[in-house]
Amino acid sequence: MATTVSPEVAGRERVEAPPQAQPHPQRRRLPLGPLKTVHVYWIAGMSCDGCTIAVAGATNPGIEGLLAGTVPAMPQVILHHPVLAVEAGHEFVHNFELAWEGKLGAPYVVVCEGSIADERIAGRTGGYFSAMGVEPREGFEHAQPVPTAEWVRRLAPGAAAVIAVGTCATWGGIPAAEGNPTGSMSVMDFLGKDFRSAFGLPVINIPGCAPQGDNFTETVFAVLLFLQGLGPLPTFDELGRPAWLFQETVHQGCTRAGYYEEGLFAKEYGDPQCLVEIGCWGPVVNCNIVKRGAINHMGGCMEAGGVCIACTMPGFPDKFSPFYKSPPGSLVSSTASRSVGAVIRRLRRLTNRHANREVRWDVLGHVPTGWGNPDTQTLPLKVVEFFYQKWQFYKAKRPGRPPGEEHRFWGGDRPGTRADHLDHSSAREDTHERR
Ligand code: SF4
Repeated sequence: MATTVSPEVAGRERVEAPPQAQPHPQRRRLPLGPLKTVHVYWIAGMSCDGCTIAVAGATNPGIEGLLAGTVPAMPQVILHHPVLAVEAGHEFVHNFELAWEGKLGAPYVVVCEGSIADERIAGRTGGYFSAMGVEPREGFEHAQPVPTAEWVRRLAPGAAAVIAVGTCATWGGIPAAEGNPTGSMSVMDFLGKDFRSAFGLPVINIPGCAPQGDNFTETVFAVLLFLQGLGPLPTFDELGRPAWLFQETVHQGCTRAGYYEEGLFAKEYGDPQCLVEIGCWGPVVNCNIVKRGAINHMGGCMEAGGVCIACTMPGFPDKFSPFYKSPPGSLVSSTASRSVGAVIRRLRRLTNRHANREVRWDVLGHVPTGWGNPDTQTLPLKVVEFFYQKWQFYKAKRPGRPPGEEHRFWGGDRPGTRADHLDHSSAREDTHERR
């Protein structure tokens, strides 16, 4: 058994790779589609079941069509899920045994939720951390629980693809936080660098605590299309994340990013501005939660008023705690955007006032609103607008009537303060009547 010590843990206790983690490289190729059915084995280890809830709530695409086999070009998915399955007890576990023994007669995908505990630690006292089903074991009078880690070890090499869903499965997450007693680790850490599925794929990682359900279903659809021979292998980044979903930061898609740019920051929860100074890590976190929303394109952390605590990141949670403090790097970036933003903000307010008036109001010098008393144009504003428009239409055609003909549109005899609906000539179709 290999003993590994990474630079990060140098100086700490030596960490042994668990025996299950020895890679089982498989280079067998599965036949390409069209497939009629694909089994999905959902193995829940050290998890809170939040990933199951998130995936069950996916809407675009939802899982119902896959399970019913009604999605064009998609095989029907037969899901073996410890919570959602109709079978229970040995009847349920028997399906897993069929896959392990190669008697399934159809390809399968393994989905891992939750981190993988180091069962050797629990085994020292005769216990276990996470298990599914029981089976006879040498030296024991009664059947013993089978650790979920063991199920992953059994099923992963024969799977068409292994998908880790949620941050516990992808990077270890909260069960693997500093000081945890279980030795928990991610699926990738457990299976090792050389692991490849039966189709030759490393572990696919869809992080999030809980993950965005649509991120999962969309990736599964893309992989199934590939297995059907109907699409290319989706692009994954160097950590096995779907690249098209995780290449941008939360900040790049955040609805509060405009406040950040203008140097406006929330002082407390409930404020509408950027949350970086009360603890948001969004600028350095790969996630699409604000763009996509939590469920059915609604919600998402910053949309709902919460800071980003970086739950999709491999460094979560240790590298982002304590969650109530602002990230150290934000001191530099928010100071910079505060000073630049103060200038930009004021310039934009001028342009905003300009954009908030109809061209007609500019010409007539009057805003016919009964709701208030909008600022009339001051001399400085007129000067700024003059140069602004000179620049805007430099070498470009300005919309409107040719110079000298404006009166044909604006009406030289316009009564000024009277509303148009009182001036009968304004309702006539023949514009000559208005001259
Ligand atoms: Fe960026 Fe967070 Fe501010 Fe949104 S709330 S703009 S993610 S720092």
